[in-house]
Amino acid sequence: MQTDIFSKCVKFNTAHEIMAAGLYPYFHQTESSQGPEVIVDGKSRVVCCSNNYLGLASNTRVKEASRKAIEKYGTSCTGSRFLNGTIDLHKKVEQRFASFVGKESAVLFTTGHHANLGAISTLVGKNDLVFTDKLDHASIIDGCHLAMGEMIRYRHNDMDDLKRLLERHPDSGKLIVIDGVFSMEGDICNLPEIVKLARTFGARIMVDEAHSLGVLGETGRGTGEHFDLQHEVDVVMATASKSLASIGGFIASREEVIHYVKHLSRSLIFTASLPPANVAAIDAALEIIECDKTLRKRLWYNTQKMKDGFQSLGFNTGASVTPIIPITVGGDMKAFQMWRMLFDEGVFCSPVVSPAVPEGHAIIRTSYMASHTDEHLDFVLDKFEKVGKHLGIIPGGTRRQRTTTEFRKARFAFSKEQMASATKNWLKNLWPLNGR
Ligand code: PMP
Repeated sequence: MQTDIFSKCVKFNTAHEIMAAGLYPYFHQTESSQGPEVIVDGKSRVVCCSNNYLGLASNTRVKEASRKAIEKYGTSCTGSRFLNGTIDLHKKVEQRFASFVGKESAVLFTTGHHANLGAISTLVGKNDLVFTDKLDHASIIDGCHLAMGEMIRYRHNDMDDLKRLLERHPDSGKLIVIDGVFSMEGDICNLPEIVKLARTFGARIMVDEAHSLGVLGETGRGTGEHFDLQHEVDVVMATASKSLASIGGFIASREEVIHYVKHLSRSLIFTASLPPANVAAIDAALEIIECDKTLRKRLWYNTQKMKDGFQSLGFNTGASVTPIIPITVGGDMKAFQMWRMLFDEGVFCSPVVSPAVPEGHAIIRTSYMASHTDEHLDFVLDKFEKVGKHLGIIPGGTRRQRTTTEFRKARFAFSKEQMASATKNWLKNLWPLNGR
């Protein structure tokens, strides 16, 4: 019997059902630049889910650098870094990044996802092992899947578990790959302990600085600098799509490691290079980060204000110690409802439900930028207070009232329980390993 491979697409209804219930939080269209306020679905909303930590994505100098690069190099390099797609700007920005993170050399991939795929799959050979934290980013996991060696996952930030697993494999080559800052929880990896374990068991360390570059450390150099352990990190990965106001992914390390990675990474060689405008934006953003501390200072002021604000309202902000502040909500449905109510109130944030987080621990992931003003942040806190009380997440609610007319109109095509379980099945395909 033949089965049409499209039949699963026809049967995939979950997203439509969430849309019909008025609770669909994904793929909303932004009609303005990535500032602290954006126009989404025709209405201005305060954003608290952006990774534009330093606010540089709409910085005048960064935009000007991009414009100039288009004038000089055009809009595309029309080929791979390997062949015709490397311009002098790629080399310049690689050198700048390498010296920023204290490494000999760096290579720039077209995205952070490509960088993790390329570096991990080339470094972890057939008889090697790669150790990952259970909450590492999906691109790290995808890189491990592509690698010939075996992936071993340890419990989140659990150093005893990591030690136990490392001990079992005295004779294999080992790489430990960790997020510097965990992208949903906002906590920091235990780099000091990881360094000790790596040195004891002969493992190399790779840190993904996606959410820490420009954010952590006295001069914004990331997790290594934060712990004064920059020289102990063997491979630094960073994406340019967050603090660096562009797109692209760096791998930095010793000269011979980068030479090897760039000659063997399929995700570098078999895709077109980063366009000139984006490379120039990274260069300008790095230059600003190198000489301007004020943005980082403001980012941390905003972070502290929001953390204090949420906690004094009675919200649970988990283990976060960074500008990523998750708000624990509980069930998946509640997270969707809370997202929708906040959206209607003019706040744009992201719900994160199981299995991306453990069952019953759905969160609203919030994150802050240097460009948020006190007024923006007070507005966000006011709205969270109103909605949080209404949903019974913090004390003082009047559960019977609905917050907005629009929400009141939402029609549930099927029961909340059915919807939650259908959503879970759908998202399981995206996070297949997170059966926690
Ligand atoms: N690593 C982490 C920790 C991330 O959060 C992300 C993106 N969210 C990536 C890698 C992938 O980066 P990019 O968006 O540049 O592909």
